Amino acid sequence: MNILLLGGGGREHALAWKLAQSPRLDTLYAAPGNPGIAEHATLVDLDATDHRATMDFCIRHSIGLVVIGPEAPLVDGLADNLRTMGVPVFGPNKKAAQLEGSKGFTKDLCQRANIPTAAYVRVSSKDGAVAALDDFTLPVVIKADGLAAGKGVIIAQTRDEAIEALDTMFSGAFGAAGEEVVLEEFMTGEEASFFALTDGVAILPFGSAQDHKRVGDGDTGPNTGGMGAYSPARVLTPELEADVIDTIIRPTVETMAAEGMPYSGVLYAGLMLTTDGPKLIEYNARFGDPECQVLMTRFDGDLIDLLLAVAQGTLADQGPVQLADRTALTIVMAANGYPGTPDKGGPIGGIDAAQQGGAKIFHAGTAEKNGALVANGGRVLNVTATADTVGAAQAAAYAAVDALDFPTGFCRRDIGWREVAREAQ
Ligand code: ATP
Repeated sequence: MNILLLGGGGREHALAWKLAQSPRLDTLYAAPGNPGIAEHATLVDLDATDHRATMDFCIRHSIGLVVIGPEAPLVDGLADNLRTMGVPVFGPNKKAAQLEGSKGFTKDLCQRANIPTAAYVRVSSKDGAVAALDDFTLPVVIKADGLAAGKGVIIAQTRDEAIEALDTMFSGAFGAAGEEVVLEEFMTGEEASFFALTDGVAILPFGSAQDHKRVGDGDTGPNTGGMGAYSPARVLTPELEADVIDTIIRPTVETMAAEGMPYSGVLYAGLMLTTDGPKLIEYNARFGDPECQVLMTRFDGDLIDLLLAVAQGTLADQGPVQLADRTALTIVMAANGYPGTPDKGGPIGGIDAAQQGGAKIFHAGTAEKNGALVANGGRVLNVTATADTVGAAQAAAYAAVDALDFPTGFCRRDIGWREVAREAQ
């Protein structure tokens, strides 16, 4: 089977690596891809925002499955257009992708389906928002409704900060994403992510992970796309996972289907583990980056079988997802300057040496220049290792980091710290 993979980050390198292990694969095409993905795929010059060109490509190359990595093409309705041509797609249609594309949509759905989440109000003007502030205690969470690459959430500690945040949101700083704003009650607890495949009816759990969003050690500094992750997140016990499926995932899948927007793809639930039980923070309509890297590292099955079953609505025929019981941990190497303006063009060496001890390096923002590997983005490499404990996986991953030669790069030195501390108890 020929497959087209869209995206060019570490998430897509992990997907390409697993897709390439399936005996069912004939040719894997990737757009735009990256030098790591190129080890498994033919890179093609295809713009995913051009739906017509993508559809033509699928016909010309007899594509049997399109795997959409990032959220933007999903929210933009690419899956809808491909499906009208009969091409199987892994990823939700535009209406269903609103679960990620509109925070207000998701909050309303939670209310209709009685899904545990923070109390909220949707507002579409600054005056309305300021008036609504009185209904919340501090701190209060202020979110742009639409996609803002993880930058559209502000936790305001004071009323003045809240008003300043609302000024920014309604000033157009987030474009159309900030035309509507959601005010939310602040929840406390530990965060974890849970993943489930669904074809709109059947639900197949795909494990848990814990991400590290802040740029600095000890969870300090500005938010990023994610500086590292590990899986499984054992803080999400089997009992809590069952609770998440019963109170969050299943009601979401059933309500979306009942309302004519069946959700097909991976449902990624960002959770707050509160003293009242798990509550939904947000949904994403795709695998996380870097969570996908640790999930794929643990995954032992045939990824084509699974993603195709989601795309074709036959997920009920699949057995449970095979995930190794070991911990996988990934460390993001970023270019100096990230999450601001990253240094581009810095040389990267030592990949083979770093992988010698069994670690796997996924490429994110890399490029090839005159035959040499260089940094070409904010998050550059994902250094991934597995072991029986988080502590051992962490040690193995940092040993691989230290074998790399990437002078213009940096990483956090404490990925997995919460679980490492629990293991030490
Ligand atoms: P991303 O796509 O990067 O995950 P996002 O911009 O879609 O982020 P959210 O995931 O909704 O936004 O929020 C980002 C972070 O803000 C969360 O991971 C969490 O740490 C914090 N946060 C969001 N909502 C709440 C809340 N109601 N209470 C406490 N913290 C919250």
